[in-house]
Amino acid sequence: MVPGKEVPLFADDDPRLSQLLEGIVRLASGDLQSRIEVSPARDELDAIIMGTNLLAEDLQIIYEELEQRVEDRTQLLHEAHREMQKMAMQDPLTGLANRSALLAALKSAQDHDAAGGQPVILLLDLDAFKSINDSLGHAAGDQVLTTVARRIRGAVRNTDVVARLGGDEFAIVMPATGADQAAVVGQRVLAALKEPIELPDRTIRCGASLGLSVGEPGRSPDDLLMEADVAMYASKAEGQNRLHVFEPGLLLVRRLRSQLLDDLRAAVKGDGLMLHYQPVIELDTGRIEGVEALVRWQHPTRGLIMPDEFIPIAEDAGLISELGLWVLTTAVHQLRRWVDDALVDSSFSVRINISATDLQSLQFIEDVRGVLRETAVRPEQVVLELTEAAIVRGNELDRYSLGGLRGLGVGIEIDDFGTGYSSISYLRRLPVDRVKVDRSLIEGLGTDPSQPALVAAVLQLVRACGLEAVWEGVETEVQAEQLRNLGCLSAQGYYFSKPVSPEQIPDLLARSSAEGMRT
Ligand code: C2E
Ligand code: MG
Ligand code: MG
Repeated sequence: MVPGKEVPLFADDDPRLSQLLEGIVRLASGDLQSRIEVSPARDELDAIIMGTNLLAEDLQIIYEELEQRVEDRTQLLHEAHREMQKMAMQDPLTGLANRSALLAALKSAQDHDAAGGQPVILLLDLDAFKSINDSLGHAAGDQVLTTVARRIRGAVRNTDVVARLGGDEFAIVMPATGADQAAVVGQRVLAALKEPIELPDRTIRCGASLGLSVGEPGRSPDDLLMEADVAMYASKAEGQNRLHVFEPGLLLVRRLRSQLLDDLRAAVKGDGLMLHYQPVIELDTGRIEGVEALVRWQHPTRGLIMPDEFIPIAEDAGLISELGLWVLTTAVHQLRRWVDDALVDSSFSVRINISATDLQSLQFIEDVRGVLRETAVRPEQVVLELTEAAIVRGNELDRYSLGGLRGLGVGIEIDDFGTGYSSISYLRRLPVDRVKVDRSLIEGLGTDPSQPALVAAVLQLVRACGLEAVWEGVETEVQAEQLRNLGCLSAQGYYFSKPVSPEQIPDLLARSSAEGMRT
């Protein structure tokens, strides 16, 4: 090389130079597949061109990989989106449609069905689910829900949409159906749900209440759902395994019921409840051996309301524990006052009705312990009455609670005995002291000649189990007489006295010790 003089690598007018420039411009504009031709000269300019081509090659590979990745990601995003859409429309536990999917199906059925008949919505709520869940646990609860879901699905057509709306509430949309046909399907669903459900360690039954509403033109899906709900509540109010079709009159019933519930809540919190006491009589002497506390509700506008009307509402609304605690406290404090006033002795007992819900909470045992401690009444002077139906349906926890209560020394009595099918083995096993025989078992005394034999048999059975019986609902002298002759010890009924206010009890006690209560 000559010093001071640079030799050009290639001539200024070399055509490859402009080819190179054009090639770079093409690559820069995104055409990564284009390549620049290499000349046979294989000189330095060609080396640059080859380098540029290699760079283009790399760029193209990187670009293709990037495209593939973008495509993969997009695919994943699409799948996630589809999954989310499904989740947004599906109940994860049962795989059934959810509320949004149901409302969409209802809307589309309404839009399309005008010609082929009206769509019908059927709403379904399980009757005993809460207590199953509470007593057997959530895993068992989930199993019940999935079984119910499967049975409902199996009872309807493929074109019907079955949804779980949450909790133990299900719904079915039946396109182009009509009320009569839907009611048939509803009965089929009820029948399917009546079958026992097998859980790992037990078999249970869980009925349902159904409400049906027909999609008249002009009603929104929300309206229909609300109407089906109103009809479903009418079914629930009548007991298990019913189906009601919506009618406008039911709206009024619902409004009254919800008003009544508000009032009841206020009564339980305030001082709207009161106790009446009905004497229990020793048949031999006519002496009052104790009383049963019976709750009444003094309603501000409707007057006195009886427990059969409001206890079920309180149970439904979760108010029963609070109500029960009030009854327990009030009755035991009342007993304390009667004892203090020397109106009654230590053999006198107060019977208190408790609800099945009370046994489901261990707090109840503590409440009983607390009130006994507070009042220092003898535990055996307090007898808790629990209906036979509640005991027969009971579970481990119930038996545990009963044992705990017995441990406190209070008496336990099976109420309405003879109506709930408790077996003899049950009677022997349960930690109870007494049964109170339902009044339906003595109704025929004095009119039906075969009745005394039945009473005698029941008495024998009860005693064979080591228990004693109280006979309730005695309305006539003949009934009282025959019970006494059959060897029955205690009875209760209008014949002796109706339930009375606590103020009237001292008079009754005085009369009973002076002359006996009409025996
Ligand atoms: P129950 O415990 O079997 O109470 C007996 C019911 O029969 C009472 O009705 C009583 O007034 C009525 N009775 C008494 N003698 C006769 C009679 O000779 N003939 C007829 N026909 N009836 C008679 P009541 O007070 O309306 O109570 C109804 C049910 O409400 C009770 O049945 C009990 O299951 C429930 N209950 C009452 N008070 C309470 C309470 O404080 N808590 C709970 N959980 N339930 C209660
Ligand atoms: Mg009772
Ligand atoms: Mg009873």
